[in-house]
Amino acid sequence: MPPTFRNFKMVGYVVYGRGSLNQLDSILAPQRKQGAPMIFLVDHFFQGHALCNRIPLRDNDELIFADVTYEPKTTQVDALAQQLKEKYGTVSGIIGIGGGSTLDLAKAVSLMMNNPGSSADYQGWDLVKLPGVYKVGIPTLSGTGAEVSRTTVLTGPTRKLGMNSDFTPFDQIVLDPELTKNAPVNQRFYTGMDCYIHCIESLEGTYLNEFSKSYGEKALELCRQVFVHSNEWTDACDDQLMMASYAGGMSIAYSQVGVAHAVSYGLSYLLGTKHGIGNCIVMNHLEEYYPDGVNEFKHMVEKNNIEIPQGICKGLNDADFNKMIDVSLGMKPLWENALGTDWEKIMTRDKLRALYEKL
Ligand code: NAD
Ligand code: ZN
Repeated sequence: MPPTFRNFKMVGYVVYGRGSLNQLDSILAPQRKQGAPMIFLVDHFFQGHALCNRIPLRDNDELIFADVTYEPKTTQVDALAQQLKEKYGTVSGIIGIGGGSTLDLAKAVSLMMNNPGSSADYQGWDLVKLPGVYKVGIPTLSGTGAEVSRTTVLTGPTRKLGMNSDFTPFDQIVLDPELTKNAPVNQRFYTGMDCYIHCIESLEGTYLNEFSKSYGEKALELCRQVFVHSNEWTDACDDQLMMASYAGGMSIAYSQVGVAHAVSYGLSYLLGTKHGIGNCIVMNHLEEYYPDGVNEFKHMVEKNNIEIPQGICKGLNDADFNKMIDVSLGMKPLWENALGTDWEKIMTRDKLRALYEKL
């Protein structure tokens, strides 16, 4: 049989630059449909913030603050889509402005405006059958790559898994590094490390090809510029980290993440540990798999004065560990990328349990 190569869908349009948010009104104009509003889903951090005055609200447009205290849930997506359908029938578009959680919510709500049932029905690969409404992503934190990816990670009734599909990527993204200015130091680090860890997992993975490598190496270089070589945070750091996130996301498009993500998903499912910090907690203990990456990671933690929580699995019982192990081992493509086709022989339940006990 001839080999098949991944034929992936990318983001439709990209605008990059400081102040590019000011173009949003003109970008949206041709997408507006008579009577159907644009819905701006904005990270709740920006409630009462000057950013809200720059949102180009017209006619019956609506600004909704997204509560991202917890990472997005299928129930939250379904409720938002239902509310919009009842109120407006349909909308001209969903514009997500915020961190990875808000971007994922915006993607998922867009899809659920046009697909029947619950978003939980579509957690998996290529289950979404119909395009969503027009959607725009505007990141205010850099690192997740959610702005370019073909997934939206949701916690559902039985699993934490994305709606991976060709309909998931944004139609438009606005990359304006000014929007990440003044993000809290710890949050910026955790989300930035998501990108660094994506790069290590992709570059050290068995799925690697030149496409993935080219983007991964560039993203890694930019992360180093920001977290290793820079002695203070400058505008250039915001510019560089935003492009690192984009390139890191592009690298993953043609490869996969690996051990840190697979283990971190278990933490997140059981303990609600957030993605960025969860990856850092795990990465801290992965010398066996990524010796150079972990070494450099620890250096960046120290240099940037960041505290990585320890002992978060203390006091858990057998059932808890088993749940995390089940969730983690369910991420088959991640393990295969990290350890090869024989991964099940390498990452046994006992071995994974021992790793969780260290965290
Ligand atoms: P986040 O979106 O969860 O936000 C973290 C915190 O930072 C929140 O309290 C938020 O209100 C706040 N915040 C956002 N922007 C800010 C700013 N400019 N200044 C101050 N505070 C700000 O964080 P994240 O790390 O960007 O995203 C993590 C989420 O992304 C997880 O839900 C994860 O599952 C998802 N994710 C998705 C993909 C994908 O491909 N779809 C990839 C990786 C991660
Ligand atoms: Zn990640």
